[in-house]
Amino acid sequence: MHFSSVTGQEGIKEQLIKMADSGKVPHAMLFTEEPGFGALPLVLSFVQYLSCPNKRDNDSCGTCPSCSKISKMIHPDLHFVFPVNTASSGGAKPVSDNFISVWREAVSADPYLTEQEFYEKCGIENKLGNISVAEASSIFRKLSMTAFEGGNKYMVVWLAERMNQEASNKLLKLMEEPPDKTFLFLVSQSPDRILTTILSRCRVVKVPPIELKKLASKVAGEFALEEQDAALWARISGGSVSRVRKVISESMESSAFDTLITSLVNSSLSKDLSRVILVWEELAQLSREKQKEFCYSLLEYIRRIYILSLGSHELSFVPASREETFRIWASRINPAFYEKGIEHVNAALGDIERNVNSKYIFADLGNRFFLSL
Ligand SMILES: [Zn+2]
Repeated sequence: MHFSSVTGQEGIKEQLIKMADSGKVPHAMLFTEEPGFGALPLVLSFVQYLSCPNKRDNDSCGTCPSCSKISKMIHPDLHFVFPVNTASSGGAKPVSDNFISVWREAVSADPYLTEQEFYEKCGIENKLGNISVAEASSIFRKLSMTAFEGGNKYMVVWLAERMNQEASNKLLKLMEEPPDKTFLFLVSQSPDRILTTILSRCRVVKVPPIELKKLASKVAGEFALEEQDAALWARISGGSVSRVRKVISESMESSAFDTLITSLVNSSLSKDLSRVILVWEELAQLSREKQKEFCYSLLEYIRRIYILSLGSHELSFVPASREETFRIWASRINPAFYEKGIEHVNAALGDIERNVNSKYIFADLGNRFFLSL
């Protein structure tokens, strides 16, 4: 993969290129991100850049034998580890190599794929994958061999937070005495679940949200959207490729949280505080995942009402059955609300991630909607 094929992340690309050009690449690096920010595509382009003998214009050439093998993920000195599981209960513990062809195909098709999408491709969608101690032993074996092509060896560990304790300890040993010319690149979406002893041995690169302009132009192309619409989607997604795709596809379907959202908006508009409280009390009882889904649905509703208020009915994707309600909202909501509303919901999402008490999060969100709607 070329750096130029990675959406946005110009700052990180620059850092990585500088690091490679100065020959000061640490033996162990951890790329942290939220799903869809592009840590894996960055790592893949970094490996390709590091190995390419014909680098030019701050990118790998893409055509030499090394680039060609790395881009197909078949280079003998590039190893991958990712969480896996068995489709049925029992049986031998699988390792990444059992799923390597699924991995190559899935990542080639979409390097931004989510954990869940990958499990579906592996046929293990009802189970959580993990990185077992058997896997860690295989990492050990692979990295202690001499490089097949005489250059560097690379091990990419996708979703390192799925390593169990034993696997983590084994990996730690490897990090303490790294074999020569060997690079470990870890990707994690929950670095708080990685052993601190591992974290302390890694150079941490915090991958930020994708620049909204870059993300907007990517989805404008992918979904044939108008520039203005794509920009709003990108903003709602918070800079994530997987989230922006999800909200776009969900916008075609009616939301599972229809009743709660309708009640929240209507009771805030009519200044009925007791009903607002009933809504947040109900939300506070949902699981953390459901609460996140609710927030994304709410963002999607705000987007639709906003688009409708601008007079772009076709772009609002409002189902015919809900059109009347949305039109009333669009006419009653103060235009100054939209931006604030998105900020409030994003703040709630951040609080859910930080495990803030649910009652506090939704009382606060309800109160802010009540006051600003
Ligand atoms: Zn090359």
